[in-house]
Amino acid sequence: MPRVSAYDMVEVGQALETILARATPLSSERVELTQARGRFLSEDIRADADLPALPRSAVDGYAVIASDPADDLEVLEEVTAGHLASARVRRGAAVRIMTGGSLPEGADAVVMVEDVEEVDGRATLQHRPRSGENVHPPGMDLTHGQAVLCKGARVGAAEVGLLATVGCTSVPVFRKPRVAILATGDELVEPHLTPPPGAVRDSNRFALMAAAEEAGAEVVSQSHALDEEAALDKAMRDGLAVADVLLTSGGVSMGTRDLIKPLLERMATIQFGRVSFKPGKPLTFATTTDGKLAFGLPGFPVSSLVTFEVFVRPALLKMGGAERVLRPRVEVALRHDVRPDPVRVEYQRATVAWEDHHFVARTTGLQSSSRLMSIAGANALLELQPGTQPLPAGTMIAALLLANL
Ligand code: AMP
Ligand code: MG
Repeated sequence: MPRVSAYDMVEVGQALETILARATPLSSERVELTQARGRFLSEDIRADADLPALPRSAVDGYAVIASDPADDLEVLEEVTAGHLASARVRRGAAVRIMTGGSLPEGADAVVMVEDVEEVDGRATLQHRPRSGENVHPPGMDLTHGQAVLCKGARVGAAEVGLLATVGCTSVPVFRKPRVAILATGDELVEPHLTPPPGAVRDSNRFALMAAAEEAGAEVVSQSHALDEEAALDKAMRDGLAVADVLLTSGGVSMGTRDLIKPLLERMATIQFGRVSFKPGKPLTFATTTDGKLAFGLPGFPVSSLVTFEVFVRPALLKMGGAERVLRPRVEVALRHDVRPDPVRVEYQRATVAWEDHHFVARTTGLQSSSRLMSIAGANALLELQPGTQPLPAGTMIAALLLANL
Protein backbone atom coordinates (compact mmCIF):
# COMPACT_ATOMS: atom_id res chain seq x y z
CA MET A 1 0.00 0.00 0.00
CA PRO A 2 1.71 3.28 -1.09
CA ARG A 3 1.90 5.95 1.62
CA VAL A 4 2.22 8.96 -0.68
CA SER A 5 -0.36 9.84 -3.30
CA ALA A 6 0.82 10.08 -6.89
CA TYR A 7 -1.47 13.07 -7.42
CA ASP A 8 -0.72 16.72 -6.73
CA MET A 9 -2.96 18.51 -4.30
CA VAL A 10 -4.93 21.30 -6.00
CA GLU A 11 -6.68 24.23 -4.33
CA VAL A 12 -10.48 24.45 -4.32
CA GLY A 13 -10.63 27.42 -6.71
CA GLN A 14 -8.20 25.82 -9.12
CA ALA A 15 -10.20 22.56 -9.08
CA LEU A 16 -13.46 24.37 -9.78
CA GLU A 17 -11.87 26.35 -12.59
CA THR A 18 -10.51 23.16 -14.16
CA ILE A 19 -13.96 21.55 -14.00
CA LEU A 20 -15.90 24.53 -15.34
CA ALA A 21 -13.46 24.98 -18.21
CA ARG A 22 -14.38 21.47 -19.37
CA ALA A 23 -18.11 21.55 -18.69
CA THR A 24 -19.72 23.08 -21.76
CA PRO A 25 -23.42 23.63 -22.50
CA LEU A 26 -25.07 20.76 -24.35
CA SER A 27 -27.26 21.02 -27.45
CA SER A 28 -30.71 22.55 -27.28
CA GLU A 29 -34.18 21.18 -27.83
CA ARG A 30 -37.76 22.39 -27.61
CA VAL A 31 -40.20 21.43 -24.89
CA GLU A 32 -43.86 22.20 -24.29
CA LEU A 33 -44.52 25.16 -22.03
CA THR A 34 -45.94 22.84 -19.36
CA GLN A 35 -42.68 20.84 -19.36
CA ALA A 36 -40.32 23.82 -19.20
CA ARG A 37 -40.19 24.39 -15.44
CA GLY A 38 -36.68 23.87 -14.06
CA ARG A 39 -35.06 23.96 -17.51
CA PHE A 40 -32.65 26.61 -18.80
CA LEU A 41 -33.46 28.72 -21.85
CA SER A 42 -31.18 28.20 -24.84
CA GLU A 43 -32.24 31.44 -26.57
CA ASP A 44 -33.32 34.94 -25.60
CA ILE A 45 -37.11 35.25 -25.63
CA ARG A 46 -38.64 38.42 -27.08
CA ALA A 47 -42.06 40.00 -26.75
CA ASP A 48 -44.13 39.45 -29.90
CA ALA A 49 -46.28 42.56 -29.30
CA ASP A 50 -46.77 45.53 -27.02
CA LEU A 51 -48.54 44.68 -23.78
CA PRO A 52 -51.03 46.12 -23.38
CA ALA A 53 -51.60 46.57 -27.08
CA LEU A 54 -54.23 49.27 -26.45
CA PRO A 55 -54.54 51.74 -23.58
CA ARG A 56 -56.21 49.80 -20.76
CA SER A 57 -58.16 50.76 -17.69
CA ALA A 58 -56.43 49.91 -14.40
CA VAL A 59 -59.65 50.20 -12.39
CA ASP A 60 -63.43 49.87 -12.54
CA GLY A 61 -64.79 53.35 -13.34
CA TYR A 62 -65.68 55.79 -16.08
CA ALA A 63 -63.59 56.65 -19.13
CA VAL A 64 -63.64 60.40 -19.72
CA ILE A 65 -61.79 63.28 -21.35
CA ALA A 66 -59.60 64.73 -18.58
CA SER A 67 -59.87 68.28 -19.91
CA ASP A 68 -63.69 68.14 -20.17
CA PRO A 69 -64.96 70.80 -17.73
CA ALA A 70 -68.39 69.12 -17.36
CA ASP A 71 -68.89 66.93 -14.33
CA ASP A 72 -72.34 65.65 -15.17
CA LEU A 73 -71.81 63.24 -18.05
CA GLU A 74 -74.00 61.08 -20.26
CA VAL A 75 -73.04 57.39 -19.92
CA LEU A 76 -72.82 56.11 -23.49
CA GLU A 77 -72.25 52.39 -22.88
CA GLU A 78 -70.29 49.85 -20.83
CA VAL A 79 -66.97 48.26 -21.77
CA THR A 80 -65.74 45.13 -20.03
CA ALA A 81 -62.37 43.37 -20.40
CA GLY A 82 -62.09 41.64 -23.75
CA HIS A 83 -64.73 43.80 -25.48
CA LEU A 84 -64.12 47.00 -27.42
CA ALA A 85 -66.32 50.10 -27.09
CA SER A 86 -68.40 51.07 -30.09
CA ALA A 87 -68.87 54.71 -29.05
CA ARG A 88 -66.29 57.46 -29.06
CA VAL A 89 -66.09 59.53 -25.88
CA ARG A 90 -66.86 63.19 -26.50
CA ARG A 91 -67.16 66.17 -24.21
CA GLY A 92 -70.16 65.79 -21.92
CA ALA A 93 -70.04 61.99 -22.11
CA ALA A 94 -68.36 58.98 -20.48
CA VAL A 95 -68.16 55.23 -20.94
CA ARG A 96 -68.54 52.90 -17.97
CA ILE A 97 -65.41 50.71 -18.03
CA MET A 98 -64.21 47.68 -16.07
CA THR A 99 -60.64 46.80 -15.06
CA GLY A 100 -58.74 45.51 -18.08
CA GLY A 101 -61.15 47.09 -20.54
CA SER A 102 -59.62 48.91 -23.50
CA LEU A 103 -60.02 52.66 -23.28
CA PRO A 104 -62.65 53.91 -25.78
CA GLU A 105 -61.44 56.30 -28.43
CA GLY A 106 -61.51 59.92 -27.35
CA ALA A 107 -61.05 59.15 -23.63
CA ASP A 108 -57.70 59.73 -21.92
CA ALA A 109 -58.47 59.04 -18.26
CA VAL A 110 -60.57 56.84 -16.02
CA VAL A 111 -62.28 58.06 -12.85
CA MET A 112 -62.64 55.22 -10.44
CA VAL A 113 -66.12 54.06 -9.51
CA GLU A 114 -65.68 55.22 -5.90
CA ASP A 115 -65.47 58.84 -7.19
CA VAL A 116 -68.56 58.74 -9.42
CA GLU A 117 -72.27 58.69 -8.76
CA GLU A 118 -74.38 57.29 -11.61
CA VAL A 119 -78.14 57.87 -11.66
CA ASP A 120 -80.43 57.21 -14.65
CA GLY A 121 -77.65 57.03 -17.21
CA ARG A 122 -75.85 60.16 -15.99
CA ALA A 123 -72.55 60.13 -14.13
CA THR A 124 -71.55 62.86 -11.70
CA LEU A 125 -67.80 63.05 -11.11
CA GLN A 126 -66.61 63.82 -7.59
CA HIS A 127 -63.01 63.92 -8.74
CA ARG A 128 -61.43 65.62 -11.75
CA PRO A 129 -58.79 63.33 -13.27
CA ARG A 130 -55.55 64.32 -14.90
CA SER A 131 -54.81 63.01 -18.38
CA GLY A 132 -53.59 59.39 -18.19
CA GLU A 133 -55.01 58.77 -14.73
CA ASN A 134 -55.79 55.05 -14.14
CA VAL A 135 -54.78 54.24 -17.70
CA HIS A 136 -52.06 51.71 -18.58
CA PRO A 137 -50.48 52.98 -21.81
CA PRO A 138 -49.62 50.57 -24.66
CA GLY A 139 -46.30 48.81 -24.05
CA MET A 140 -46.28 49.58 -20.32
CA ASP A 141 -45.59 45.95 -19.34
CA LEU A 142 -43.75 44.76 -22.46
CA THR A 143 -42.72 46.40 -25.70
CA HIS A 144 -42.67 44.60 -29.03
CA GLY A 145 -39.23 43.02 -29.65
CA GLN A 146 -38.01 43.53 -26.10
CA ALA A 147 -35.95 40.61 -24.67
CA VAL A 148 -38.11 39.47 -21.79
CA LEU A 149 -35.98 36.45 -20.80
CA CYS A 150 -32.31 35.79 -21.46
CA LYS A 151 -30.51 32.66 -22.59
CA GLY A 152 -29.37 30.72 -19.53
CA ALA A 153 -32.28 31.80 -17.35
CA ARG A 154 -33.89 29.10 -15.23
CA VAL A 155 -37.57 28.67 -15.97
CA GLY A 156 -39.56 29.14 -12.76
CA ALA A 157 -43.12 30.26 -12.19
CA ALA A 158 -42.62 33.88 -13.30
CA GLU A 159 -40.72 32.74 -16.41
CA VAL A 160 -43.51 30.29 -17.31
CA GLY A 161 -45.92 33.22 -17.00
CA LEU A 162 -43.78 35.40 -19.27
CA LEU A 163 -43.40 32.62 -21.86
CA ALA A 164 -47.18 32.23 -21.96
CA THR A 165 -47.59 36.01 -22.16
CA VAL A 166 -45.44 36.27 -25.27
CA GLY A 167 -46.94 33.14 -26.84
CA CYS A 168 -43.82 30.99 -26.55
CA THR A 169 -45.39 27.55 -26.16
CA SER A 170 -42.55 25.54 -27.70
CA VAL A 171 -39.75 26.60 -25.42
CA PRO A 172 -36.08 26.46 -26.53
CA VAL A 173 -34.07 24.88 -23.68
CA PHE A 174 -30.74 23.15 -23.23
CA ARG A 175 -30.74 19.38 -23.10
CA LYS A 176 -30.42 17.97 -19.58
CA PRO A 177 -27.02 16.47 -18.80
CA ARG A 178 -27.20 12.66 -18.68
CA VAL A 179 -25.60 11.24 -15.57
CA ALA A 180 -24.53 7.68 -14.72
CA ILE A 181 -24.05 6.87 -11.06
CA LEU A 182 -21.97 3.97 -9.83
CA ALA A 183 -21.63 3.15 -6.14
CA THR A 184 -18.65 0.96 -5.34
CA GLY A 185 -17.81 -1.17 -2.34
CA ASP A 186 -17.89 -4.84 -1.30
CA GLU A 187 -19.60 -3.77 1.94
CA LEU A 188 -22.67 -2.22 0.32
CA VAL A 189 -26.12 -3.77 0.40
CA GLU A 190 -29.38 -2.53 -1.08
CA PRO A 191 -31.35 -0.24 1.26
CA HIS A 192 -34.25 -2.67 1.64
CA LEU A 193 -31.96 -5.31 3.16
CA THR A 194 -30.72 -5.61 6.73
CA PRO A 195 -26.93 -5.30 6.47
CA PRO A 196 -25.03 -8.34 7.77
CA PRO A 197 -22.14 -7.64 10.19
CA GLY A 198 -19.57 -5.36 8.52
CA ALA A 199 -21.89 -4.25 5.72
CA VAL A 200 -23.69 -0.91 5.25
CA ARG A 201 -26.68 0.12 3.19
CA ASP A 202 -25.80 1.92 -0.03
CA SER A 203 -26.97 5.47 0.60
CA ASN A 204 -24.68 7.39 -1.76
CA ARG A 205 -26.24 6.04 -4.93
CA PHE A 206 -29.65 7.33 -3.92
CA ALA A 207 -28.43 10.60 -2.43
CA LEU A 208 -26.43 11.32 -5.59
CA MET A 209 -29.37 10.47 -7.84
CA ALA A 210 -31.47 13.00 -5.92
CA ALA A 211 -28.70 15.60 -5.98
CA ALA A 212 -28.14 15.16 -9.74
CA GLU A 213 -31.84 15.58 -10.45
CA GLU A 214 -31.99 18.66 -8.23
CA ALA A 215 -29.14 20.06 -10.33
CA GLY A 216 -31.25 19.64 -13.47
CA ALA A 217 -29.67 16.41 -14.72
CA GLU A 218 -31.27 13.19 -15.90
CA VAL A 219 -30.01 10.01 -14.26
CA VAL A 220 -29.75 7.50 -17.11
CA SER A 221 -27.99 4.68 -15.27
CA GLN A 222 -27.36 3.78 -11.66
CA SER A 223 -25.76 0.67 -10.28
CA HIS A 224 -23.46 -0.81 -7.67
CA ALA A 225 -20.23 -2.69 -8.32
CA LEU A 226 -17.95 -4.73 -6.09
CA ASP A 227 -14.34 -3.62 -5.55
CA GLU A 228 -13.12 -5.88 -8.34
CA GLU A 229 -11.12 -4.55 -11.22
CA ALA A 230 -12.93 -6.26 -14.10
CA ALA A 231 -16.41 -5.52 -12.75
CA LEU A 232 -15.55 -1.89 -12.04
CA ASP A 233 -13.87 -1.40 -15.40
CA LYS A 234 -16.98 -2.66 -17.19
CA ALA A 235 -19.43 -0.71 -15.03
CA MET A 236 -17.48 2.53 -15.53
CA ARG A 237 -17.24 2.07 -19.29
CA ASP A 238 -20.95 1.22 -19.47
CA GLY A 239 -21.75 4.40 -17.55
CA LEU A 240 -19.58 6.59 -19.76
CA ALA A 241 -21.14 5.04 -22.86
CA VAL A 242 -24.66 6.24 -22.00
CA ALA A 243 -24.00 9.43 -20.05
CA ASP A 244 -22.35 12.84 -20.36
CA VAL A 245 -21.10 12.59 -16.79
CA LEU A 246 -20.05 9.55 -14.75
CA LEU A 247 -20.21 9.80 -10.97
CA THR A 248 -18.62 7.05 -8.93
CA SER A 249 -18.66 6.91 -5.16
CA GLY A 250 -15.97 5.27 -3.05
CA GLY A 251 -12.69 3.65 -3.96
CA VAL A 252 -10.68 6.82 -4.56
CA SER A 253 -8.42 6.89 -1.52
CA MET A 254 -5.22 5.01 -0.75
CA GLY A 255 -6.56 1.58 0.29
CA THR A 256 -5.67 -1.62 -1.51
CA ARG A 257 -9.25 -1.90 -2.83
CA ASP A 258 -9.42 1.69 -4.02
CA LEU A 259 -9.34 1.04 -7.75
CA ILE A 260 -11.15 4.01 -9.27
CA LYS A 261 -8.14 6.23 -9.98
CA PRO A 262 -6.11 3.59 -11.86
CA LEU A 263 -9.22 2.55 -13.80
CA LEU A 264 -10.00 6.15 -14.74
CA GLU A 265 -6.42 6.42 -16.01
CA ARG A 266 -7.27 3.71 -18.54
CA MET A 267 -10.37 5.32 -20.02
CA ALA A 268 -9.83 9.05 -19.43
CA THR A 269 -7.33 11.75 -18.52
CA ILE A 270 -7.18 12.56 -14.83
CA GLN A 271 -7.19 16.35 -14.44
CA PHE A 272 -6.69 16.19 -10.70
CA GLY A 273 -6.73 13.42 -8.11
CA ARG A 274 -6.62 15.33 -4.81
CA VAL A 275 -8.09 18.61 -3.57
CA SER A 276 -7.14 20.60 -0.50
CA PHE A 277 -10.73 20.30 0.67
CA LYS A 278 -12.57 18.83 3.64
CA PRO A 279 -14.59 16.63 3.56
CA GLY A 280 -13.40 14.79 0.44
CA LYS A 281 -9.68 15.29 -0.22
CA PRO A 282 -9.40 12.33 -2.68
CA LEU A 283 -11.98 13.79 -5.11
CA THR A 284 -10.88 12.88 -8.63
CA PHE A 285 -11.84 14.55 -11.88
CA ALA A 286 -11.18 13.12 -15.34
CA THR A 287 -12.21 13.87 -18.91
CA THR A 288 -12.53 11.57 -21.92
CA THR A 289 -11.43 12.32 -25.47
CA ASP A 290 -15.09 12.62 -26.50
CA GLY A 291 -15.76 15.40 -24.01
CA LYS A 292 -17.34 13.43 -21.19
CA LEU A 293 -16.64 14.14 -17.54
CA ALA A 294 -15.98 11.62 -14.78
CA PHE A 295 -15.94 12.41 -11.08
CA GLY A 296 -14.56 9.91 -8.59
CA LEU A 297 -16.36 11.02 -5.44
CA PRO A 298 -15.20 9.84 -2.03
CA GLY A 299 -17.20 7.08 -0.33
CA PHE A 300 -18.08 8.66 2.98
CA PRO A 301 -21.69 9.80 2.62
CA VAL A 302 -21.08 13.41 3.66
CA SER A 303 -17.92 13.67 1.55
CA SER A 304 -19.71 12.43 -1.53
CA LEU A 305 -22.58 14.89 -1.14
CA VAL A 306 -20.43 17.89 -0.19
CA THR A 307 -18.00 17.31 -3.07
CA PHE A 308 -21.04 16.93 -5.33
CA GLU A 309 -22.42 20.22 -4.04
CA VAL A 310 -19.21 22.21 -4.44
CA PHE A 311 -17.72 20.64 -7.60
CA VAL A 312 -20.26 18.55 -9.53
CA ARG A 313 -23.39 20.66 -9.23
CA PRO A 314 -21.82 23.72 -10.94
CA ALA A 315 -20.60 21.46 -13.76
CA LEU A 316 -24.05 19.92 -14.30
CA LEU A 317 -25.68 23.35 -14.22
CA LYS A 318 -23.20 24.70 -16.75
CA MET A 319 -23.74 21.73 -19.08
CA GLY A 320 -27.49 22.18 -18.66
CA GLY A 321 -27.11 25.77 -19.87
CA ALA A 322 -27.49 27.69 -16.61
CA GLU A 323 -26.13 31.22 -16.57
CA ARG A 324 -25.67 31.17 -12.79
CA VAL A 325 -23.95 28.01 -11.61
CA LEU A 326 -22.62 28.94 -8.16
CA ARG A 327 -24.58 29.22 -4.94
CA PRO A 328 -24.98 32.64 -3.41
CA ARG A 329 -22.23 33.40 -0.91
CA VAL A 330 -23.08 35.50 2.14
CA GLU A 331 -21.36 36.56 5.34
CA VAL A 332 -22.59 34.88 8.50
CA ALA A 333 -21.77 35.23 12.19
CA LEU A 334 -20.74 32.01 13.92
CA ARG A 335 -23.07 31.15 16.79
CA HIS A 336 -20.46 28.84 18.36
CA ASP A 337 -16.70 28.55 18.49
CA VAL A 338 -15.45 26.60 15.46
CA ARG A 339 -12.11 24.92 14.95
CA PRO A 340 -10.88 25.09 11.34
CA ASP A 341 -8.74 22.44 9.70
CA PRO A 342 -5.04 23.37 9.92
CA VAL A 343 -4.32 22.83 6.20
CA ARG A 344 -7.49 22.32 4.14
CA VAL A 345 -10.47 24.58 3.38
CA GLU A 346 -13.34 23.00 5.25
CA TYR A 347 -17.02 23.15 4.32
CA GLN A 348 -18.94 22.70 7.55
CA ARG A 349 -22.67 22.11 7.49
CA ALA A 350 -24.86 24.65 9.26
CA THR A 351 -28.27 26.21 9.48
CA VAL A 352 -28.32 29.91 8.77
CA ALA A 353 -31.10 32.25 9.87
CA TRP A 354 -31.58 36.02 9.87
CA GLU A 355 -31.42 37.28 13.46
CA ASP A 356 -30.91 40.80 14.79
CA HIS A 357 -29.99 42.32 11.42
CA HIS A 358 -27.50 39.69 10.28
CA PHE A 359 -27.15 36.02 9.31
CA VAL A 360 -26.30 33.69 12.17
CA ALA A 361 -24.92 30.18 11.57
CA ARG A 362 -25.54 27.26 13.87
CA THR A 363 -23.64 24.02 13.42
CA THR A 364 -25.52 20.82 12.65
CA GLY A 365 -23.41 18.98 15.23
CA LEU A 366 -20.56 16.52 14.84
CA GLN A 367 -19.00 17.16 11.42
CA SER A 368 -17.86 13.59 10.76
CA SER A 369 -17.75 12.75 7.06
CA SER A 370 -19.71 9.56 7.76
CA ARG A 371 -22.52 11.37 9.60
CA LEU A 372 -25.29 12.18 7.10
CA MET A 373 -27.19 13.79 9.96
CA SER A 374 -24.70 16.67 9.69
CA ILE A 375 -26.02 17.58 6.24
CA ALA A 376 -29.71 16.69 6.49
CA GLY A 377 -31.54 19.93 7.21
CA ALA A 378 -28.46 22.10 6.66
CA ASN A 379 -29.11 25.16 4.49
CA ALA A 380 -25.54 26.41 4.28
CA LEU A 381 -21.94 25.33 3.99
CA LEU A 382 -19.56 27.41 6.08
CA GLU A 383 -16.40 28.07 4.14
CA LEU A 384 -13.65 27.83 6.76
CA GLN A 385 -10.21 28.88 5.63
CA PRO A 386 -7.39 26.78 7.09
CA GLY A 387 -6.00 27.94 10.40
CA THR A 388 -4.53 26.77 13.66
CA GLN A 389 -6.58 28.99 15.97
CA PRO A 390 -10.23 28.32 16.89
CA LEU A 391 -12.68 30.89 15.50
CA PRO A 392 -14.66 32.38 18.40
CA ALA A 393 -18.46 32.77 18.33
CA GLY A 394 -19.36 36.01 16.56
CA THR A 395 -16.64 35.70 13.91
CA MET A 396 -17.93 36.67 10.46
CA ILE A 397 -17.20 34.08 7.76
CA ALA A 398 -18.33 33.25 4.23
CA ALA A 399 -21.08 30.69 3.69
CA LEU A 400 -22.66 29.15 0.62
CA LEU A 401 -26.44 29.20 0.84
CA LEU A 402 -27.88 25.86 -0.22
CA ALA A 403 -31.59 26.53 0.07
CA ASN A 404 -34.17 29.12 0.89
CA LEU A 405 -33.86 30.44 4.43
P1 AMP B 1 -14.23 4.35 0.46
O1 AMP B 1 -14.07 5.74 -0.03
O2 AMP B 1 -14.65 3.41 -0.59
O3 AMP B 1 -13.00 3.90 1.20
O4 AMP B 1 -15.40 4.40 1.53
C1 AMP B 1 -15.27 5.18 2.69
C2 AMP B 1 -16.39 4.91 3.64
O5 AMP B 1 -17.63 5.29 3.04
C3 AMP B 1 -16.56 3.46 4.04
O6 AMP B 1 -16.87 3.42 5.43
C4 AMP B 1 -17.72 3.01 3.21
O7 AMP B 1 -18.42 1.95 3.81
C5 AMP B 1 -18.57 4.23 3.09
N1 AMP B 1 -19.30 4.16 1.84
C6 AMP B 1 -18.74 3.99 0.61
N2 AMP B 1 -19.69 3.95 -0.33
C7 AMP B 1 -20.87 4.12 0.30
C8 AMP B 1 -22.22 4.17 -0.14
N3 AMP B 1 -22.52 4.04 -1.43
N4 AMP B 1 -23.19 4.36 0.78
C9 AMP B 1 -22.87 4.48 2.09
N5 AMP B 1 -21.62 4.44 2.56
C10 AMP B 1 -20.62 4.26 1.69
MG1 MG C 1 -14.75 1.43 -0.81
